[in-house]
Amino acid sequence: MEYLLDNSDQALFPKLTDGQLERLRPIGKVRRAAMDEVLFAEGEHSYDPLVVLEGTVAVVQGHDDQARGIAPHLPGDLVAELNIFTGEPAAASAIVRQPGAVLVIPVAEFRALVGRDLEFGDFVSQLLFRRRRALRRLRVGFHIIGSASNKDTVRLREFSARNRLLRKWIDPADERARELLGDAAEDAMAAPFVLLGDGEPLRNPTNAELARAAGLLRGADVPRGAYDLVVVGGGPGGLAAAVYAASGGMRTVLLDAVAVGGQASTSARIENYLGFPAGLSGVELAERAMLQAQKFNVQMIVPCAAVGLEVRDGAHVVTLDDGGELTSRIVILAVGIQYRRLAIPKLEDYEGVGIAYATATARQQLRPGDAVVVVGGANSAGQMALALADAGRKVHLVVRGRTLAGSMAAYLRERISLDSQIEVHLHSEVRELAGAGHLEQVIVENTAAGRRLSIEAGVMVVLIGAEPHTQWLRNVVDLDGEGFILTGPALAPEARRRKPWPRLGRAPLMLETSRPGVFAVGDVRSGSTRMVAPAAGDGGMAVRLAAEHLAWASQHQSG
Ligand SMILES: Cc1cc2nc3c(=O)[nH]c(=O)nc-3n(C[C@H](O)[C@H](O)[C@H](O)COP(=O)(O)OP(=O)(O)OC[C@H]3O[C@@H](n4cnc5c(N)ncnc54)[C@H](O)[C@@H]3O)c2cc1C
Repeated sequence: MEYLLDNSDQALFPKLTDGQLERLRPIGKVRRAAMDEVLFAEGEHSYDPLVVLEGTVAVVQGHDDQARGIAPHLPGDLVAELNIFTGEPAAASAIVRQPGAVLVIPVAEFRALVGRDLEFGDFVSQLLFRRRRALRRLRVGFHIIGSASNKDTVRLREFSARNRLLRKWIDPADERARELLGDAAEDAMAAPFVLLGDGEPLRNPTNAELARAAGLLRGADVPRGAYDLVVVGGGPGGLAAAVYAASGGMRTVLLDAVAVGGQASTSARIENYLGFPAGLSGVELAERAMLQAQKFNVQMIVPCAAVGLEVRDGAHVVTLDDGGELTSRIVILAVGIQYRRLAIPKLEDYEGVGIAYATATARQQLRPGDAVVVVGGANSAGQMALALADAGRKVHLVVRGRTLAGSMAAYLRERISLDSQIEVHLHSEVRELAGAGHLEQVIVENTAAGRRLSIEAGVMVVLIGAEPHTQWLRNVVDLDGEGFILTGPALAPEARRRKPWPRLGRAPLMLETSRPGVFAVGDVRSGSTRMVAPAAGDGGMAVRLAAEHLAWASQHQSG
């Protein structure tokens, strides 16, 4: 069998040292491995990592003549992928190709060792991140079979991308679609199918159904009882709060309506996050933070939206969109913002088939040779334009203002001015869209000259600001005129005179909302600097302030 990955690549297949093996032996069990034995199977929801002691174990995706060899594992190799932490099913099977012996480590024990042994934990997490990147490049994972212009295909691809699931999209017209689906391949033109492991194909699953099948939706397992902290929103602000709180011993649950990682996970490259001089991708940041949260036993419910928040018997009760409730002493709202849309005709017709609001979704919609229009004059638009130009695309940056100064960082402006792939259209606004089934033309008006220009482009990325996710919080906490959550000193004096503040005898703390014990962090907070580091900083600070609130409350009660 030919393999896609080369076992001599030390970055992906390092031999465990004697010291590392010694750490694993006491928690593992040595067993014989017979020829052709399946040690774990593609699609299995939980499997135990292995170390090959003798013989060869092949990692293979698919079956029989459809099988693809991913990698052979030789003595000293660890057989494991990032899914042992994320809960996704095994993306491939481990099959014995030369009989021998393996050390099987129960996955819970393995995770615990990674959590308590810093050196081994670092070795394993770096290795698994590298393997995940390699698998992503090879497009190993479950299959989404559906037409690129079908809205449900777009939805499932977008949801999978936001959740960083290992998957491969296949057009129903592709021969492979027929191999996988048989005659049903024709039905995939009308509605997409998802194929996971050996299971029955799922026809047009909802996001929640896909999440459940892909091992993401852990909501059902998460106890709905009382917590010290409920974090609503899993972007950098929420993740930082959850990690700080759980590492300090608070019983913490985090829920996210779409995916852990938030907006930041859609960023192609975050260049200004401390400690990463070469920058890091949003996906990498999200994966690292998620692993860290798991290490500290943060319970995560995804996808699951909070739809209500009230006080009952002195505790905060968060109502969930599945009808469940979570009770907690503290709530941190880290719900972020959603992108603002352009007020132009036919916008919805092209959303998902030419119009995107984030890097990940834009990339999915790009076809070979497509030029791209990026709308917006802020940093996110600048970064997007540069990333696309680096990838060889012709980029038109459409900016309403007469200059980029004042809205975009100087280093981005300078790089854009030096990049011949990027054409900047100042004083310009998008007026019309055209294309048959997919965006093909963007009509832009130069408002200073009163002239219209038709730009040939397959994708338009709209980065013109955003609105906070606070519709459900309107009568719960005080918001500013644009719907952002007011906290601490920004709250009006009148809010502090309202019940229960006079009885509490203290003013709202810095990140505290108009409701005591409820904090707001990150982009959704009125006056925040909308970036990753400030959001994460807010998260940490909110936990510190929450502890202050709890200490004060217990003193107050006992006194
Ligand atoms: C394309 C792009 C590039 C960027 N590049 C950079 C960069 O290079 N550097 C930088 O510093 N910043 C960058 N940013 C900004 C940065 O991503 C944000 O400032 C940061 O993600 C804000 O974090 P947050 O936790 O406040 O909110 P978000 O990241 O927006 O996360 C909020 C989360 O809350 C969830 N949610 C919303 N409502 C509910 C609900 N009712 N129930 C449950 N969950 C809910 C959402 O699904 C979301 O996952 C970029 C943003 C974008 C879009």
